[in-house]
Amino acid sequence: MAVTSSAQTFEYVVIGAGAMGSAAAYHLARDGRRVLLLEQFAVGHTRGSSHGESRIFRFAYPNADYAQLAMQCKPLWRQLEAESGERLLIETGGLDLADDPEGFNAVDEVARTLERLGAAYALLDAEQVRARFPMFSMSREGRAVYSPDAGILLADRCVRAFVRLAQAQGAVVHEHEAVRAIHPEGAHVWVETAQQRYRARAVIITAGAWVNALLAGLGFALPLRIEREQVAYFDARGSAEFRPERMPIWIHYRALIAYGFPDLGNGVKAGFHHAGHYLNSADENNGQPDAADLERLGNYIRMRFPALDPTPRNALTCLYTNAPDEDFIIDALPSVPNVIVASPCSGHGFKFAVGIGRALADLVQHGETSLHIRHTRRLAALLQQL
Ligand SMILES: Cc1cc2nc3c(=O)[nH]c(=O)nc-3n(C[C@H](O)[C@H](O)[C@H](O)COP(=O)(O)OP(=O)(O)OC[C@H]3O[C@@H](n4cnc5c(N)ncnc54)[C@H](O)[C@@H]3O)c2cc1C
Repeated sequence: MAVTSSAQTFEYVVIGAGAMGSAAAYHLARDGRRVLLLEQFAVGHTRGSSHGESRIFRFAYPNADYAQLAMQCKPLWRQLEAESGERLLIETGGLDLADDPEGFNAVDEVARTLERLGAAYALLDAEQVRARFPMFSMSREGRAVYSPDAGILLADRCVRAFVRLAQAQGAVVHEHEAVRAIHPEGAHVWVETAQQRYRARAVIITAGAWVNALLAGLGFALPLRIEREQVAYFDARGSAEFRPERMPIWIHYRALIAYGFPDLGNGVKAGFHHAGHYLNSADENNGQPDAADLERLGNYIRMRFPALDPTPRNALTCLYTNAPDEDFIIDALPSVPNVIVASPCSGHGFKFAVGIGRALADLVQHGETSLHIRHTRRLAALLQQL
């Protein structure tokens, strides 16, 4: 379709309807702002980072900045649940465990951080883990931190709830409309798609693994690496032990970190964090799971959860957009305060989406936020001029 000559005007344009963009649109619409959310594919598509049944929610981070942000996010998720009338965050508790020296430091750091922030937790030795959570098999030297504040976010449902509630408050959502260019011009920003030109007071770029394609048009690049990850489901053979009432989410700190979720009806879901399949661009992801990775995951499950069927099922791929240090980047472009970039994946962003959306809505309206994102305001330090 040809670009029409007359531009449409919005107060804010959000580019990308994954977890972050849909959350930003939800908060802006809730604040009574006139907002347009543009998505190049359909809402809920499976080529980016936010699709699938579930994501881990937890306070349990070694790094206090993320733990604090997660603590601010929990009431916001509950607010979204109340407004949507849906269950979105299932509290299961979480187990951060290690049974080799490589993992002990991380687990100890998690405990120290929770202690410092006054969050509830329990230190468990291997015997105590076996007694409380017999589904996990760990060596005698193992230890774990149990945190009651962890659980499962129903990811697809969360994104749909953000979009639905944003629309109910007047947000305009255009699917299958890719942004080609962004032109800041003083107090306004022009956004160009194949179909239309839009004028806005400010633009939020929440384009996930595609962020550099948009920044290139502005003469910038971020040092990001895109990684294709995969998860798979393992049949619990009808055992009630693996249901969320009994089994917590878990993170197993080891050379290749493993994590997983109890059985919500489709089996126990598990994956490796940073399995190491790097792509040159987000469009290279063909959605095909890697057979060798699945075999490795099946072997892990066989060793650690002997009661599960170790045959991987319903595998799906998903993208991480990694900053060099895995910290988020949420900031205005240097000398362009009305273009805000939020590239907060690095494989652990979903749990914060509701808070990051709030922070983005605050930043474009007021230039500041009470959300704990100071550590992410570092675009100038990372941006490379093309
Ligand atoms: C396998 C896996 C497991 C994970 N597990 C967890 C977990 O347990 N807990 C946790 O907290 N986090 C987890 N994460 C990370 C979390 O899911 C991501 O941080 C988060 O979903 C990123 O959301 P996003 O909105 O930045 O990116 P995306 O979801 O990719 O959204 C970006 C959107 O922008 C659109 N877009 C791009 N360019 C354009 C354009 N030019 N015009 C219009 N639209 C455009 C894209 O199509 C896309 O829909 C996991 C990620 C993966 C891959």
